[in-house]
Amino acid sequence: MPRARPHEAPPTAGLPLRLAELLPGRADLADRITAQLGTPPLQLECSGTAALLLTLRVLKARAPQRPVVVVPAYTCPLVAIAVHRAGLHLRLCDLRPGHYDMDPQALTAACREDTLAVLPTHLAGRVADVDTAVAAARQAGAWVIEDAAQALGARDRGASVGLRGDVGFFSLAAGKGLSIYEGGLLLARDAQLREALQRAHAGVPRNFGWELRRSLELLGLAALYRPRGLALAYGRPLRAALRRGDPVAAVGDDFAPAIPFHRVGAWRRAVGAHAAARLPAFLEALAAQAQARVPRLQRIEGVHVFADPPGAQGTWPFLLLRLPDARTRDAALDRLWTAGLGVSRLFIHALPDYAYLADRVPRQDTPNARDFAARTLTISNSPWLEDAGFETICRTLEGVLA
Ligand SMILES: *Cc1c(COP(=O)(O)O)cnc(C)c1O
Repeated sequence: MPRARPHEAPPTAGLPLRLAELLPGRADLADRITAQLGTPPLQLECSGTAALLLTLRVLKARAPQRPVVVVPAYTCPLVAIAVHRAGLHLRLCDLRPGHYDMDPQALTAACREDTLAVLPTHLAGRVADVDTAVAAARQAGAWVIEDAAQALGARDRGASVGLRGDVGFFSLAAGKGLSIYEGGLLLARDAQLREALQRAHAGVPRNFGWELRRSLELLGLAALYRPRGLALAYGRPLRAALRRGDPVAAVGDDFAPAIPFHRVGAWRRAVGAHAAARLPAFLEALAAQAQARVPRLQRIEGVHVFADPPGAQGTWPFLLLRLPDARTRDAALDRLWTAGLGVSRLFIHALPDYAYLADRVPRQDTPNARDFAARTLTISNSPWLEDAGFETICRTLEGVLA
């Protein structure tokens, strides 16, 4: 039986919690992040998905004749689950060829009289083209929800992401940077819409059982989120899932259909606020590490590393790479996925290709999204991936692409 590795880099750079940050306190997470980002007040929900679901319910009540939500065909399966939970229908928008943004033409065609909202998505911390989505949405009378689940701290032309559209949300799930195990922050530019979201929040119940569970999970995360603990908590199940031939489980894409909906308790809000004090410096260190490593990767012929559009400063939880074809991508993963170096994949499939979502996702043909899923991989930007490990990854990619 293969033994667990002593060290394992996490696939994304999370902010490790410190012992002292686990003490209770009066600091409030949403207030602290609001101050850091310089946005209107953020609203804390129990997950990014719950934040999205709450938003969809509020918008649906305002425009019940609009049952359709337009999302990129390559995104987190939880987005599809939330749209279905809200009693709405998905319309998939294919991607620009080889890119994470939605294709502008497909986007214009997808936004119609029946469209409630469009979800431009800041994937991998990269800043998405929200302007094109806003233009398409406005023409159809639809709202824009920026999915910034992976991009807390990202800025576009001087302001936080989430403010060019009508609503934005960030995720505080384990593995997404700052984490309280599960949590989501909601942002709305317009005061009236913000008040409507706050009113909807007033109806979110407390749930002692869920809060206890999340609190224990957060303690577990605090204990295990270090190189040795990750070998056990991340590396072992990853290898087991890949041996079973189940990549969807390997990256945790196999989400339950139910979406917990409850208030986040005072202890987790305080822990998150304590850790958040270190977030700006952590994000800066990650950006510096990415800035040093991206050029090395770009010198490898055949590697495309995604960067930000002009005027944008994204965050760098991991580096997102596109390779020339599925064969080279798969060959690279064969050598690197279980090497303990934090190399992984983002979402395994385009949304129509998840068998378990077949009842909730329309059977649309979205070839660019499928191609994107087949040709991309991710490299952790955790500080625990040291230069030597990063160089091993680069050499391996050079070998595969030679
Ligand atoms: C993780 C994620 C979500 C959902 O956020 P949770 O906090 O995990 O519920 C939504 N969209 C994208 C792109 C994500 O990566």
